[in-house]
Amino acid sequence: MSDDKPVRHLLGLSGGKDSAALAIYMRDKVPEMEYFFADTGAELPETLEFVDLMEDYLGKKITRLNAGRGFDYYLKLNGNFLPTARSRWCTINLKLKPFEEFVGNDPVISYVAIRADEPYRTGYISTKPNIKAIYPFKEDGKVKDDIIKILEESGIGIPKYYDWRSRSGCYFCFYQRKIEWIGLYENHPDLFEKAKEFEDYHRNLGRNHSWSQDEYLEEMLARKDEIKEKFQLINQNKKPKNLVDVVLDEDGDDDGCLVCFK
Ligand code: SF4
Repeated sequence: MSDDKPVRHLLGLSGGKDSAALAIYMRDKVPEMEYFFADTGAELPETLEFVDLMEDYLGKKITRLNAGRGFDYYLKLNGNFLPTARSRWCTINLKLKPFEEFVGNDPVISYVAIRADEPYRTGYISTKPNIKAIYPFKEDGKVKDDIIKILEESGIGIPKYYDWRSRSGCYFCFYQRKIEWIGLYENHPDLFEKAKEFEDYHRNLGRNHSWSQDEYLEEMLARKDEIKEKFQLINQNKKPKNLVDVVLDEDGDDDGCLVCFK
């Protein structure tokens, strides 16, 4: 790192539980910390509320990245092709690039919320030589139970969407499980409809693309009861049987987009 400029300390909030817990954990340890949130323009209302709550708790501004250039802007730039797990232009344009722009050429320490019980995860590490990633939870041996405790003891608690969804990120994220799509329908029918409109648009162009594997959202919705029954059956030994318990037991964010969901 360059010696000319002071080192900036950056912590990105995704709207997920781990980055929130890390922000709480580090608040008094690194008073000069700068916080940021890369808003995709397609966030759940619960996520935006949670970030506002965190801002109040931290007593510091959380810089919102991507102002005016959300998902719709990049969708057009990508020829209106929706992102997929194999073509994840959304993460690059809405999360990674804005972060690097925010950093610029300043020497930066980036605090990453990977836990000690996630031995195989490395997270996004920029190739920019001025960014150094560090992992306080890993270094301090903090595991999932510690993260839940940090959130509960702070009074912040778990983000509300965990009642029906296992991760933060865009409302239409293609990493969602089918039960989470049903959760989106039940909690935010307007957003479910908007997600469906993206699929309809593709279909009208003769493109074969569905957000979820093997079926369009309208087909999935027709199987709503079946999906819910299957979920209950698989998790029948877990009480109470709702998604938050399953998520916190299984840690549903092991796959997918680390930079969006942590
Ligand atoms: S949350 Fe999902 S859809 Fe949104 S940017 Fe991340 S990977 Fe893409």
